Amino acid sequence: MSAARKRVAVVGVGTMGSQAAWRLAARGAEVVGYDRYAPGHDRSAAGGETRVFRSVQTHDGRYVPLVRHADALWKQLQAETGRELRRLTGALVMGPADDPEIRTVMDGIAEHGLDHEVIDTEAMAKRFPQFRVDDGDLVVLDSHAGFIRPELTVQTTARRAEELGARIRRYTPVREVTPVAGGGVEIRTDTDTERFDAAVVTPGPWVGDLLPDLPWEVSVYRAISAWFLPHEDHPADAERPAFIRCGDIPFYGIPSPDGLTVKLGLPQPHHKPVDDPNRLNRTVAPEELEAFTTAVRRHLPGLNPDPVRLSVFMEGYTDSTRPLVGPLPGCDDIVLLAGFSGQGFKISPAMGDIAADLALEGRTSQPIDFITTSGRSAA
Ligand SMILES: Cc1cc2nc3c(=O)[nH]c(=O)nc-3n(C[C@H](O)[C@H](O)[C@H](O)COP(=O)(O)OP(=O)(O)OC[C@H]3O[C@@H](n4cnc5c(N)ncnc54)[C@H](O)[C@@H]3O)c2cc1C
Repeated sequence: MSAARKRVAVVGVGTMGSQAAWRLAARGAEVVGYDRYAPGHDRSAAGGETRVFRSVQTHDGRYVPLVRHADALWKQLQAETGRELRRLTGALVMGPADDPEIRTVMDGIAEHGLDHEVIDTEAMAKRFPQFRVDDGDLVVLDSHAGFIRPELTVQTTARRAEELGARIRRYTPVREVTPVAGGGVEIRTDTDTERFDAAVVTPGPWVGDLLPDLPWEVSVYRAISAWFLPHEDHPADAERPAFIRCGDIPFYGIPSPDGLTVKLGLPQPHHKPVDDPNRLNRTVAPEELEAFTTAVRRHLPGLNPDPVRLSVFMEGYTDSTRPLVGPLPGCDDIVLLAGFSGQGFKISPAMGDIAADLALEGRTSQPIDFITTSGRSAA
């Protein structure tokens, strides 16, 4: 069957699913997307106005080529839709010079020739007085970085896929994804069962719910976003860079697009596990704010430490933090994208493109050896 006539289901039209639907529809596939809610909802991994986009990587330099591929698609998506989904304001990455994450950043810069500036602590005080850095810190300004708008992106991308012919079934949870003997996939909902040539399965934190026999562990954690008002003499400003702090008090932050507040988030060790993604506790207890308060008091003198807004999201994490991208064992027609471990938004257009490669051609030329499901041991 030619790629243009392939029928492909996309299960979960969130961050990855909307991108997969766009790339598949753009290549002429007949796409049906299913979501338990509607594209752009905030009950899962995407939401809270902003996500950091950055070229430098703190975890693993192997993501850099995927970020580059995503970067080209971010530009294309914005041009096709006429929406500002991403704003490049730069991003400051800071922390002790001998911190492993800072070393990964510097190694990636050297290996890939990434556009950046190293800023010494004296210059920091003049240029970016909103941060308090420690002696021995290294500060890198990633020039090709900024923020992405998650709700706008998912909704705009899903609509673009629909313009290109995709059909999206909103408020339609998929109950079962079953390989068909001899090839193809069946998708069962509460009301019907449809047959497809292939399926791209992108259920985010619901992956264990939908695929209970998955041989890899994806643990779901609850992540809090907190918004802070600046003091009068430290105005926020949407054009200021995003920031990531590594070391003993790690956090990241993004000035809000409306220029009024600054959003902060913490890394995974601060997140609580989620037993059932259908029952996410969206209430934040006072003690859960302590790490935010510590970060503000120590490193962000321009912010009032009492948050003015809180939101709770959830995300699937693998043990290695490397996502699962590729076919399910024994079934090349089911392509899984899951376990993005707090890092997936920036690369989501590349992931959608790779999903389209795998669903339509059974292979990709993109460098995904380190994240592929093929041959990956169970854990
Ligand atoms: C608080 C927070 C901050 C983050 N910050 C960043 C950042 O700054 N930069 C960055 O790059 N990444 C960041 N990430 C990570 C990034 O947001 C995620 O990796 C990404 O959104 C995951 O996308 P996904 O498609 O796997 O999940 P989702 O976007 O959650 O999509 C899953 C979709 O599947 C649907 N679904 C689930 N089950 C079913 C079913 N059975 N039937 C039909 N539909 C179903 C859901 O309704 C949902 O729409 C952050 C994550 C969190 C939680």
